[in-house]
Amino acid sequence: MINITRKEKAPDCLKKQTNYNCEDVLEKLEKDFLGKCYICETNQFSTNVEHFKAHKGNKKLKFDWENLYLACNHCNNIKLTTDILDCTNPKQNVEEQIIYNSISEIKEKIKIKVNELYKNDKLTLQTVDILNKVYNGHTKIKEIDANNLKIYFLEEMLYFQGLMLKYNKEKFNEKKLSKIESKIEDELHKGSKLTAFKRQIIKKYNYKKLQKYFD
Ligand SMILES: [Zn+2]
Repeated sequence: MINITRKEKAPDCLKKQTNYNCEDVLEKLEKDFLGKCYICETNQFSTNVEHFKAHKGNKKLKFDWENLYLACNHCNNIKLTTDILDCTNPKQNVEEQIIYNSISEIKEKIKIKVNELYKNDKLTLQTVDILNKVYNGHTKIKEIDANNLKIYFLEEMLYFQGLMLKYNKEKFNEKKLSKIESKIEDELHKGSKLTAFKRQIIKKYNYKKLQKYFD
C-alpha cells in the first residue's frame, strides 16, 4: 500500500444517488488510484468500487465520492467492514507505518509487519492483519486466490530484483547504468505495481541515490 493523492472531482452521476458504479466513477477512480487496487497494489482480480467506511445503508456514505475507493474483489472480500489506514490521507503514512517484506520463493509467506513505532496504533495493526490475509490467504478459497497473487508477486519482484542486480553489476559502466536506472525509476514510481515492496528494498539496503525516484 502506498499513499496516493485524490485529484478528480466528484462525478455528477453520484448526485442522483442511484448507482455508485457509474462509468464516470470508474474512470475517475482508475485515474486517481493509478489503475490498481489500493490494498494489494495489483490489478490481478476483478475491479470493485469499495466503500472505505462501510455505508451500512447510509445513503450519504454510500454515494460520497471521497468514500469510494478502487479495490479488487479479492481484497474487498477480506477487508469487508474493517477500518484500516487511509492511503489518501497524507497524515497516515502507509509506507512508513508498515514494513513490506518481499519473498524469493513461492512457498514462503509474505510477511507484512507493523513498524515498531506504531505497534500500539490500532488502525496500523488492523491494516497489517488485512494485508497478511490478502497476500497469504486465511481460508482455503482465499489461499487459492492468494497463491495466484503470489505468482504474480514473484514475477514482478524477481524482475525488479534482476534490475537491482544489474544496477550493482554495471555500477562502473555509466552508459549501461543510466539505462538500468531509468527502468528502476519506472518501478519505483507509484503507478507501478507492488510499489511499497520495491521501495522497501531500496530503503532497507540503503540505496540513497535511488530514493529520489519515490514520488
Ligand atoms: Zn486487491
